[in-house]
Amino acid sequence: MPTDIPGIHHVTAIGSDPGENLAFYTDTLGLRLVKRSVNQDDTSVYHLFYGDYEGSPGTSMTYFPYPNARPGQVGTGQASTVQFLIPDGSIEYWRERLTDAGVDVDEPTERFGDAVLPFQDPDGLPLELVARTDAPAGNPPDAPVPESHAIRGFFGVTLSLDSADSTAPLLREMGFQETASEGDRTRYESAGDLGYAVDLREDPQAPRGQPGAGTVHHVAFQVTQADQADWREVLQAQGLRPTEIIDRKWFESVYVRTRGGVLFEFATEAPGYTVDEPLDELGEQLILPEWLEDRRAEIEASLPELSIPSTPN
Ligand code: ZN
Repeated sequence: MPTDIPGIHHVTAIGSDPGENLAFYTDTLGLRLVKRSVNQDDTSVYHLFYGDYEGSPGTSMTYFPYPNARPGQVGTGQASTVQFLIPDGSIEYWRERLTDAGVDVDEPTERFGDAVLPFQDPDGLPLELVARTDAPAGNPPDAPVPESHAIRGFFGVTLSLDSADSTAPLLREMGFQETASEGDRTRYESAGDLGYAVDLREDPQAPRGQPGAGTVHHVAFQVTQADQADWREVLQAQGLRPTEIIDRKWFESVYVRTRGGVLFEFATEAPGYTVDEPLDELGEQLILPEWLEDRRAEIEASLPELSIPSTPN
């Protein structure tokens, strides 16, 4: 048996305007652009990776910003909300910061004893900040958000499902335990300190999720390289059809469509984003995996212009 999964490795979503996306996740949310690359399955589209200073597993929100993407439908069979972890006592700071930035922010609410601030990104993807006393110090960028309030990484995701039974057995297999339940929401938690919460929200009345701007493409969970092949076997034993192990340069990946419809990825924590550029220069250059390097001129010409933030982070 592979070892239990500590939590989420990254979350990948679909966006539209790459410049707006970059400005929102760096200037407004205060994450660092830790990798600027292309979608390896469609190289005319950027793949932008945001995270803490190092892009540590558990902090990395990534985007495929298709400039003319049609809006998707958030709904069942998807991760319908992405939750970020902030220190306890930081909700008011964030409410003011987001409101000042023109972000549509909902009233803070409380869930399972934690203060939660719901809002949306520029493409309408539902996001939440979850304030907790156990938020790790982490390694957030120095600016623009003061360290005392900075996003530490993921808290978790909410999966919108017709039935929680479609997904709960797999989560348990992965090392997540049920910790709380209220109404249509059941929380599962792993033992890690980031990205450890997966809320299953049973909502058969909700619209079926449709891919497009403002929707999550997949949720990746963190595994070790030693365990990667074993995870494929676990998935096959559950009657699922995982992909082969795919080399994504910064991690190795196995993808699987779960019974609830959500696309999961099992991504290795190594080698990480510093494998092909120095830590203090992450995100400054367009980075291509070596198998795309001979097409660099053509790829660069087909990408939209993007002005990279010059503020140190
Ligand atoms: Zn991924």
